[in-house]
Amino acid sequence: MKVSKFGGSSVASADKFKQVVHIVTSDKERKMVVVSAPGKRYAEDTKMTDLLIALSSKVQLGEDYVEEFGRVIDRYREIVTDLGMPEEIIADIIQNVQSLIDLHKDNPFRLLDCLKASGEDNNARLMAAYLTHLGFEAHYVNPKDAGIFVSDEPGKARVLPLSYEKLPQLRERSGILIIPGFFGYSEDGNMVTFSRGGSDITGSIIAAGVKADLYENFTDVDAIYSVDPRLVENPHEMKEVTYREMRELSYAGFSVFHDEALEPVFKSGIPVCVKNTNNPEAKGTFIVSERPIGDTPVVGIAGDKGFCNIHVDKYLLNREIGFGRRLLQILEDEGISYEHTPSGIDNISVIMREHQLTPEVEKRVFERIKTELQVDEISIERDLALVMVVGEGMTSAVGIAAKATEAFARSQINLEMINQGSSEVSMMFGVKASSLERAVQALYNTYFNNMYSISYSSIK
Ligand code: ASP
Repeated sequence: MKVSKFGGSSVASADKFKQVVHIVTSDKERKMVVVSAPGKRYAEDTKMTDLLIALSSKVQLGEDYVEEFGRVIDRYREIVTDLGMPEEIIADIIQNVQSLIDLHKDNPFRLLDCLKASGEDNNARLMAAYLTHLGFEAHYVNPKDAGIFVSDEPGKARVLPLSYEKLPQLRERSGILIIPGFFGYSEDGNMVTFSRGGSDITGSIIAAGVKADLYENFTDVDAIYSVDPRLVENPHEMKEVTYREMRELSYAGFSVFHDEALEPVFKSGIPVCVKNTNNPEAKGTFIVSERPIGDTPVVGIAGDKGFCNIHVDKYLLNREIGFGRRLLQILEDEGISYEHTPSGIDNISVIMREHQLTPEVEKRVFERIKTELQVDEISIERDLALVMVVGEGMTSAVGIAAKATEAFARSQINLEMINQGSSEVSMMFGVKASSLERAVQALYNTYFNNMYSISYSSIK
């Protein structure tokens, strides 16, 4: 049995709905379908989730929200009309959205979260109604009925282990089950959403819960590319990538598949296939536990901006017990999460997402580091980008790092840092944010177009 998830662009219009129905009904194993809210129909379009966020803001401000409400309803109306479905469905959606506003208007967080969740919820009802209208046996299944229980953290919910007790029962149900993505229910009954793009997480939880043979993730590309296709023309398509590789690539900027969505399927070893709704015949990319390494020790290159680095120096730092802990404690006290901590004998750097360090926070953190840790020097470097070269075969191949540094040198890119320490599947380079695009292109050319002189070989 397969769990098939359709992302926002795959359910953005009546034509896309028809395509989804065609895909789902052409394979009997596609019994469980997870849908997003309508996404963008064209580049400048607005996603339903963003329309709902705008609606929530208006309500919270106590302002007239007729226009924002209308935009939400119009998106559904267009789909319903173009599918030739009865008008009553629109009335139900209007009533649903209005009731959420009435219920939560005095609780801004809850209102925002419930309205966001309603995007997928109403779309799932619509998809189930359409399948039924066409004569198929299909049922809308609310995440509470399905058994998706999550922590009560609006906008960043995490699945609770309890979910896996009830989810297997879904297997017993007849017909095609249509389940809204992006949210679950807290133990005391609140609708709570995952982080943005979280319908991928719902699909993964369901696939793990029902022990599916395959989790299909339908989107609008034929495959996951080895590099951001906006940076390189006709990039290489990845046929297979391991969970670990995908996790590293998602972390470093690949947005095709939500990084938190890997955990449930990874734990239960269920393969994921990322496929194109508009071209379902294309094989797609498989995310699996193991892949043959062959001559592709590197599968992908990713990069992301928005990092900074706090660097401290202290003579004999290596002898000072507890220094690292106290340094990180200062960051913890400010609620800052860090990404990497490359270190030397007398120095340590802490790399973090830059937005966390507002001028006030930076001032407090610097003061405390200076006075409490008595450091010799402290400095900050802003506008950094991290570039990752990812591949399971890297540890057993000679010359991977040499190729990267040669590529950077030829492209006149200054390396701010290199970190290959703890991860066996990736190598990380810090460069100035302004060099990110060039850095990614240089690395792609060296590993995938074999442009430079050094070649790597397997360790004998
Ligand atoms: N609709 C939500 C978003 O835009 C969740 C999703 O599509 O996965 O983030």
